[in-house]
Amino acid sequence: MPIRALDPRVVAQIAAGEVVERPASVVKELLENSLDAGSSRISVEVRGGGVSLIRVTDNGSGIPSGEVGLAFDRYATSKVANLEDLESIQSLGFRGEALPSIAAVAEVDVITCAAGEKAGAYLSLQDGVISSQGSRGRSQGTTVTMSNLFRKIPARLKFLKSVATENSHIANVVSQYALAFPEVKFSLLIDSRVALRTPGSGRLIDSVAEIYGTEVAENMIELNDKAAALSPRISGMVGSPRVSRSGRGYLSFFVNRRWVNSRMLARAVEEAYHGLLMVGKHPVAVISISLPAQEVDVNIHPTKSEVKFRNDSAIFSAVHRAVRQALTEQITVPRVEVATTQPIFPSAVRETASMPYAGASSDSITPAPTPAMSLPVLWVLGQLDNSYIIAEGPDGLYLIDQHAAHERILFEKINRQRSQRDIEVQGLLEPMTFEVSPRQEAILKTRCQDLAEFGFAIEPFGDRTFLIRALPALIHDKDWAGMLRELLDSLSQGDKGDWAEDVTITMACHGAVRARQSLSEPEMRELVRQLEQCDTPHTCPHGRPTMIYLSSSQLKREFGRT
Ligand code: ADP
Ligand code: MG
Repeated sequence: MPIRALDPRVVAQIAAGEVVERPASVVKELLENSLDAGSSRISVEVRGGGVSLIRVTDNGSGIPSGEVGLAFDRYATSKVANLEDLESIQSLGFRGEALPSIAAVAEVDVITCAAGEKAGAYLSLQDGVISSQGSRGRSQGTTVTMSNLFRKIPARLKFLKSVATENSHIANVVSQYALAFPEVKFSLLIDSRVALRTPGSGRLIDSVAEIYGTEVAENMIELNDKAAALSPRISGMVGSPRVSRSGRGYLSFFVNRRWVNSRMLARAVEEAYHGLLMVGKHPVAVISISLPAQEVDVNIHPTKSEVKFRNDSAIFSAVHRAVRQALTEQITVPRVEVATTQPIFPSAVRETASMPYAGASSDSITPAPTPAMSLPVLWVLGQLDNSYIIAEGPDGLYLIDQHAAHERILFEKINRQRSQRDIEVQGLLEPMTFEVSPRQEAILKTRCQDLAEFGFAIEPFGDRTFLIRALPALIHDKDWAGMLRELLDSLSQGDKGDWAEDVTITMACHGAVRARQSLSEPEMRELVRQLEQCDTPHTCPHGRPTMIYLSSSQLKREFGRT
């Protein structure tokens, strides 16, 4: 075929394909236009999964009647005028592509009235060409109605999922913008049913409550970035580890109020929860990042859903630090009471106050230390049910789960010894044999060297048998064979997590005192003393709590004293 220029309609459809992938893309573009127009109230109505109809109505600036037709020309925009503007984009839109793209793949109607104009204007387009226009009364604002998406492009229509799935994508887009703009009243009607309505109070927590429900909202912790004067500024909310979720869909990021996807940001948040969530659980977070427009390139993708930061590692550390700090401040067991009462043993508290603000002056991406999580000095009172240690602190009662607490102690000890290459090893007088399944054998063969780092001296000894010459001192008198098998099985199930951490957790678990094991007073005192010295004493390595705390004021309240 000879080379020739494509028909403009084909060009329009190819270009539209980049912007309009599915009905939710149309909703996103129309919402962004309404937000750029300064609207305080935006309603979205969809039918048939957004294929039959999408209508977005706002009370924003409106489009001057003389410019309505122009808005549908490709690359026509009121938001940037020159190259410099492109360097410092403040608006959500800037490419001038959305309206023409939508009009290329669906029928579109717009009714709009700009400030100061007596009558509004309307315009209809079929196949991207104006089919009728005129004036029409309405209050200030704009209504864009799209119908019959992809009717003329059956190939695209085929790629859409069920109505329910498309609706859920639409609901997600509206929800994300409702989280990004709590001061705007959003409503979403799906096939005439109210799917979402936010109050537009300006308080993020109100939007969170509407979108994720009150249980999540009650467990959100506000980010209070102490480095707020610095750039980037991180704000928003994260869920306490109590409201973790099994999917990653509860992480929202806004960069200069633009909803973006970013693996780097997701990793920064997830790492901040390290050790606080159970394996396989994910946090809830709504995080806004504000920074000078020059520090971020928003023009790398036609849907504008990805951005490129000039300094990734600075953003990573800022987000990580803000989240970790919020979590550690909240997770400190004595919460509100600490602020109101003078601690009797102020050592732990003093440490917090004098700690330099971790990471504030560096771009390092290592997790910040967690000073606020330290424990005060505790006085052991006794053991309950051979499983829990009862202890008294400066301002309340602590019930400590002996197994979980010991796991935490051993976990930190193994990590410390490993980083100093100083694992305590117990050599065996007589080597012992260790039999494994074929599957376990395959794995163990490749892992002998890695296990040596933890104090295991293991070598292959023929037919599905290994010879053990030394063991980590921590578990040499425990069921180490069971522990090794558990570890090998967890790996053979295709678990590609952090192997070293898995070994550490498994060793800590097997080395720790069990529940229903009677402890002497000196043993309990020693355990509590070691727990006091842990960096993260409040959770076990699996993320479960190691203790329950009852403050003196709570006790008084319970007994009806004031
Ligand atoms: P962009 O948003 O990138 O400028 P669009 O194709 O989405 O491109 O919109 C083109 C222009 O139409 C915008 O620049 C804006 O001036 C105008 N416009 C679109 N929607 C609205 C709206 N809801 N309210 C006011 N103006 C709008
Ligand atoms: Mg736009």
